[in-house]
Amino acid sequence: MDYFNEIEKVDGQVADILKDEIHRQQNVLELIPSENIVTNAVLQAMGSVFTNKYSEGYPNKRYYGGNQFVDLVEQLAIDRAKHLFNAEHANVQPHSGSSANMAVYNALLNPNDCVLGMSLSDGGHLTHGHSVNFSGRTYKFFGYGVKESDCTIDYDNLEKLAKLVKPKMIVCGASAYSREIDFKRIGEICKEAGCLMMADISHISGLVIAKIHQSPFPYADIVTTTTHKTLAGPRGGIILCKKEYSSAIDKAVFPGMQGGPLENIIAAKAVAFYQASKPEFIEYQKNIVINSKKLANELIEKGYKIVSGGTDNHLFLLDLSSIEMGGKTAEDNLDKVNITVNKNMIPFDKRKPTDPSGIRMGTPTITSRGMKEKEMVKVAQYIDSTLRNIGNEAELSKIKLNVEELCKEFPIYQ
Ligand SMILES: *Cc1c(COP(=O)(O)O)cnc(C)c1O
Repeated sequence: MDYFNEIEKVDGQVADILKDEIHRQQNVLELIPSENIVTNAVLQAMGSVFTNKYSEGYPNKRYYGGNQFVDLVEQLAIDRAKHLFNAEHANVQPHSGSSANMAVYNALLNPNDCVLGMSLSDGGHLTHGHSVNFSGRTYKFFGYGVKESDCTIDYDNLEKLAKLVKPKMIVCGASAYSREIDFKRIGEICKEAGCLMMADISHISGLVIAKIHQSPFPYADIVTTTTHKTLAGPRGGIILCKKEYSSAIDKAVFPGMQGGPLENIIAAKAVAFYQASKPEFIEYQKNIVINSKKLANELIEKGYKIVSGGTDNHLFLLDLSSIEMGGKTAEDNLDKVNITVNKNMIPFDKRKPTDPSGIRMGTPTITSRGMKEKEMVKVAQYIDSTLRNIGNEAELSKIKLNVEELCKEFPIYQ
C-alpha cells in the first residue's frame, strides 16, 4: 500500500511496526465493541495538513491568523453534527470521549456537587464517577445500576435515589449494556428531581443516528459521544447540547481545558459525519445489530448465558460463570485463535476485576468488513470450539487457521 511509502523512506522501524499492525487487523476477528475500521477517506483527513495549524478559539473567533480554511472545515463538522443528532449546538473539539465528559462537568458542576452515574460494574464508564477517575475524585458521584432479576437498568431505584440525593446532574449511557436505554424515562426522573440530564452515547451514537436506538434528545440537556465507535470516525469526542448551555460548554473546552484543537481530526470528524448521513450508513448500523443478535442467539443455542438474556444493540456480555470459566482464560485463549474480545465484569460478579466472570463482545468491526449472519454462525462456532478446547493446543491451531481463512474473505485496506 503506497500509504507506507513515505514512512518507509524516513523511518523503517515505524513502517515495519505499522505493517505488522495492519496484518494483525487483517487477520483477527475484532469483537471489541468499542472499536471499528475507518474508511480511507477518514484516514486521509486525519493525515492531512490541518495538523500543521494552530487554531485556538472557534470559527471566526481565533487567536491565530490564517484560519480561513480551518474555520470552513470546523464549521462544516459542527453543522453536520447538529444535523445528524438534531442538536441545537455542537462542540467538535474534545480530543476524546473522556475529555468531552470532563468539559461538560467543568462547565456545569462545581467540585463536590452530587451526581448520579451508572456504576462501572453494572456497565457504566470510568468517567461516570469511578473512584480512580477524575470524575469520582472531583464530584460526589452515587452509582445506580441494574436489577438482579433481569440485569436491566433499575429505573425505579434511580428515581428513588434521585429524590433522596437531589443530584445536580444524572449521567446516563454505558459501555457494557446490551439493552435499549430509556432516555425518556430518565428525562422524566431528571425533571422530577430538578436536575440536569447528560447522556453519554459513546457506544450507541451510530445506532441513534440510524434511529435503531431512541435518541437522547429532546430529553437530555447535554449529549456526549466518542466519534470512533459505532460512528466509525476518527478517535475523538464531541459535545451536543441545548442552546442555553452552548456558551458554558464552549468555554469549558477552550480555554477551560484544551489548547489548540486537532483540526486534522476535526476534518476527519466532518468526513465521518458526512458518511453517517448516507443511506448506506443506516443499512450498516442495521446490519451491526442483526449480526449482534445472531451471534448472541447462536451462542445461546450452544448453551451459553448472555447477561440480560440477549441484546438490542451492537454488543453483549457472555456470562461464563455457568461454565465455571474466568474471563481472563477465555480472553487469552480466544486471543490464541485470533479472536479479540475483552474480559469484563458482569453485574453482581463474584470474581475480581482482573479475572471477572464475563467477556464483552460486539459486531461493529466485523460488520464493517462486510460479514453477515452466515458468518456469525461460524464466529459462534469458533468461539464455542475455543472455549471447549482450552489446553488443547493442536485443536486451537486448527481453529486459528479457520479464523484466518474467514478473515481472508473480508479484506481491509487493500
Ligand atoms: C468509550 C467511552 C468513553 C471514553 O472515550 P475515550 O475516547 O476512550 O476517552 C466515555 N464514555 C463511554 C460511555 C464510553 O463507552
